[in-house]
Amino acid sequence: MLPDESIIADPNHPASGSLTTLQLQSANAASLGALRTGWQRRATQSSPFRAQRPSKQAESRRTFTSMSEEATQKAAQPVLRLEYEPPAFLAKDVDLTVELDDTSKISCKVEYERQREGADLVLNGERKPAQMEIQSVLINGESLDADAYQVDDETMTIPSAALPVKVGEKISVQIDVTVVPEKNTSLNGLYKSSGNFCTQMEAEGFRNMMYFVDRPDNMSIYRTKVIASKSVPHLLSNGNDVERGDLPDGRHFVLWEDPWPKPCYLFALVGGDFDVLTDSFTTCSGKEVRLGIFVEKGNLSKTPHAMDCLKRAFKWDEERFDREYDLSQFNIVAVSDFTMGAMENKSLNIFNSKYVLADNDTATDTDFLNIEGIIGHEYFHNWSGNRVTCRDWFQLTLKEGLTVFRDQEFSSDLNSRASKRIADVQLLRDHQFKEDAGPMAHPIRPDAYEAIDNFYSLTVYEKGAEIIRMIQTIVTPEGFRKGLNLYFERHDGQAVTCDDFVKAMEDANEVDLSLFRDTWYTQAGTPEVSVKTSYNAEAAELTLTVEQSCPATPGQAEKEPFDIPLAVGLVGTSSNGPLRFKVGAADAEEVDSAVLRVTKAKQEFTLHGVSEKPVPSLLRGFSAPVKLSCSELTRRDLVFLAAHDTDSFVRYESGQELAKQILTELVEKAASGVEADALDHEDAPLLLSSLEHTLRDASLDRALVSLALAMPNESAMADAMEKGTANVDHISSACAALRRLIAEGLGPLFAETYEATREPAKNESPGDAVARRQLKNSCLRYLVKNSALREDALRKAVHQFEAPENMTDRYGAVLAVRDIDCSERTRLLQDFFDMYKSDKLVVQKWFRVQAQSALPSTVDAMKSIMDMPEVFDIKNPNCCYAVFNAFAGGNFTGFHAADGSGYTFVADRIIQIDDINPQVASRLAKQFSSWRSFTAPWSTKMHAELERIAAKKDLSKDVAEIVHKSLEAPSSNL
Ligand SMILES: [Zn+2]
Repeated sequence: MLPDESIIADPNHPASGSLTTLQLQSANAASLGALRTGWQRRATQSSPFRAQRPSKQAESRRTFTSMSEEATQKAAQPVLRLEYEPPAFLAKDVDLTVELDDTSKISCKVEYERQREGADLVLNGERKPAQMEIQSVLINGESLDADAYQVDDETMTIPSAALPVKVGEKISVQIDVTVVPEKNTSLNGLYKSSGNFCTQMEAEGFRNMMYFVDRPDNMSIYRTKVIASKSVPHLLSNGNDVERGDLPDGRHFVLWEDPWPKPCYLFALVGGDFDVLTDSFTTCSGKEVRLGIFVEKGNLSKTPHAMDCLKRAFKWDEERFDREYDLSQFNIVAVSDFTMGAMENKSLNIFNSKYVLADNDTATDTDFLNIEGIIGHEYFHNWSGNRVTCRDWFQLTLKEGLTVFRDQEFSSDLNSRASKRIADVQLLRDHQFKEDAGPMAHPIRPDAYEAIDNFYSLTVYEKGAEIIRMIQTIVTPEGFRKGLNLYFERHDGQAVTCDDFVKAMEDANEVDLSLFRDTWYTQAGTPEVSVKTSYNAEAAELTLTVEQSCPATPGQAEKEPFDIPLAVGLVGTSSNGPLRFKVGAADAEEVDSAVLRVTKAKQEFTLHGVSEKPVPSLLRGFSAPVKLSCSELTRRDLVFLAAHDTDSFVRYESGQELAKQILTELVEKAASGVEADALDHEDAPLLLSSLEHTLRDASLDRALVSLALAMPNESAMADAMEKGTANVDHISSACAALRRLIAEGLGPLFAETYEATREPAKNESPGDAVARRQLKNSCLRYLVKNSALREDALRKAVHQFEAPENMTDRYGAVLAVRDIDCSERTRLLQDFFDMYKSDKLVVQKWFRVQAQSALPSTVDAMKSIMDMPEVFDIKNPNCCYAVFNAFAGGNFTGFHAADGSGYTFVADRIIQIDDINPQVASRLAKQFSSWRSFTAPWSTKMHAELERIAAKKDLSKDVAEIVHKSLEAPSSNL
């Protein structure tokens, strides 16, 4: 599964930092929040994870700083990883009959096999979300009286006495229920979207539709009969359709059989009236696979791109990782109401429509790339997730970290690897580092949770992918492919753990990864690495002294040193080019890049044969998810690396580091009382000349040039400061000043570059066109910030809007005028709405632009949007993300308005949405967890809103977990 974006940034907008075209898909991965599952149920005897023993976290939760008594009582008991117990009963075969209707009837006949003597059969089931009502319970075909079993809000218990005694014995249990899909606004379980029936089961949605052993290590063979009126022509489920026909009462049915055992979180069912694009793919062994993409009526013309992506994904996984598809059909259904980005149900992926539908008039280049990445991601799960799945939800990164890594590689192989890498690193640093430094910090394999949906986090996904990437760096790409093949071969059809994955990598490569595993999988927090160098010209040696440490995180005061692969190179200060060197011994092989394994708190490495004084190029390709510092690098060294390094990440990073240093000093100047308009910096010319050099270098990929132009944003600056010292006014002034200095200093060059990139070049490849448009729009945004050139820039924006190459241009023009109170802004926004008001996805772009505007009228604009029932529906997650999350996460000055109006508006929405869809509410609530970063009045106002949310009656467990952890007394330096 991929969570949908809860991040907010506009691609390419300097004001919102460096997010770029490629990242949205990962922007998705921002954590969610979620269900009404959790501890109370788990604390019962039935629970797979018993949690009676108070954990460290549970103890510390009693030290809430200033919470109300009522709020304190909601603190939950966590589920603990180390208390895993295998299920007492396994469902071997599942026979489901689903009659879709306003009140849908579901009958589920299961053959359970006893795994543990003496245990009751405890089934998970939640009545509330879809109004589930039990109709009958049959044991071996005999009706069970209602007093022969117990039902509470979250479970059904059939006592052991009514069941077979011996391990291995089987029993048939048939349960019939009714549910009301229309009432299920949680969008978890069986629900309705735009009149069509669909499901979302991960992590724990199946229990909203049926009483069942709802855990990932319970893998079964499913036969599913879907019945509906003929007004619902398409009836889909997992596997192959083996029978279809009419029923005497005028309805029809389709019977689906899935031959592969799977947990219920991979079950899916869809019933609706769709437009369908069909195609086929022939696998490497010659098997024909029928492909189908099902979309809401009227959207067929927006499906060909998704189909192309799907076929590319099939082929890429065969070629890169030897993975062939394993059924004769594969279907994708796109729905408008979907909390996540997309879901990898076996052979029936269900997608948020915004990650399927695209054409040139309505989708930006970013949208096209996101669709490719996400279609790939869900398809790749067929092996990394479905054929081999997770033993329990603590192992979520086993499938998600690995599959994010796979989709990153897919996008890199098909597009610009360098800019994809930078975009992924930006996402990680802008958002995951923040998570690692806050109250929700957790290892990629957490030890405890209250609501599992809160752990569909950037840490599990994006940092998890970095950890897989480090394994590949250590064992080499060939070794990684071997290890992955062994993992799939060894564990096919099983539910396994992260340790099993690492073991397969070790065995296939005969390496010991125990230190790597014991640190990266178990410790939270972002390691900090500092490097000092000393050069001995006579001996031609460079010594690097590397030190590492990691800040305390909740429940982990002390950390063991990590196993860090540090990729380094050298650039000669006389030759201005890469230097070759030897690592360890003078007679070692000469290389131009090496990976040093840093495993101790302090370690020395000597590089030999270094023929001239070098500038070190450190953490090449971002070889580990750490914060690196090298205090000896002067600002001139940074400019030198930005111009001469052969590693595109270090080139980019050096420019960013220089900008960050300048910004930090601008923040200090603002704090000393210098007015925003008068802020200047003596090293600004150095940064400008570096940017000019980059802009004029015709050999560079234009996507990389555009990335270099994006400066660190306000939120990144706040994160980089000591806790409790971030002053919103000073940070905003500094960032605005730097943008103004760049816009004014390079104005004519931006105008020249804009003209040079305005029209397509002859024989331009699609990738080059994307990069060109990206650079063009970056220039336009700087041009409107230059007061002398603004009038002309606004004309350019209007012209670009009226005669665009595609939606990237049209949307780019609107973004450029977003923060300027002028008649062009009013006109473009109105025209944009008039053109696209019947297209939900494009209208959501219109929402987003307004929610992220720096103008003071933004809260009023959002209130007006909420008053437009023809386009805005608070029950629709995409609408919430495009307005509220876009605002809270991507509009620094608006959300952090000094009068608290932004906070109050968002807190009101959290309270409102919590009753509709707790996952959406909890994602929004995470925006308050950084309150300790700020000075007063911001910190006190955010804290007050957290308390107001905590006091809400019947607060969902999802939101409660976020709010309580945010309010908790900090441990050590948190
Ligand atoms: Zn996934």
